[in-house]
Amino acid sequence: MEITADSPCPCRALDADQASYAQCCQPFHEHRASGQVLPATAEQLMRSRYSAFVLGLADYLLQSWHETTRPAELLLDEDLHWEGLDIVKTRSGGAQASRGVVEFTAHYSQDGQRGSQHEVSTFVRENGAWFYLDALY
Ligand SMILES: [Zn+2]
Repeated sequence: MEITADSPCPCRALDADQASYAQCCQPFHEHRASGQVLPATAEQLMRSRYSAFVLGLADYLLQSWHETTRPAELLLDEDLHWEGLDIVKTRSGGAQASRGVVEFTAHYSQDGQRGSQHEVSTFVRENGAWFYLDALY
């Protein structure tokens, strides 16, 4: 998918407030390795991981995955096209929290069929950086 800094951020495609990629997830994607710009909340990390799925940024997904649950490698399905994200509910996961729970629905199309994935994800924060831990369901 062609996304530039001025495009609506993939994680905001369904929102009325279509913040640009540069205003939303791009800084997180570009600065994860240095740790200079990190998502402040579990929801921001969740959004940035969704955008990374859209953009095929496997490295970012692995870097933001907690080491206890991180797969050795990640192969992204190129036939799957992510079309939008709805954040259903966020429990905890604020800037001062060490754990967060985010419930979301991600919409996709594959082989001309539309589908959606509903998940409740848990996140942990260590040394100021949020990590994806696992899915409750
Ligand atoms: Zn975003």
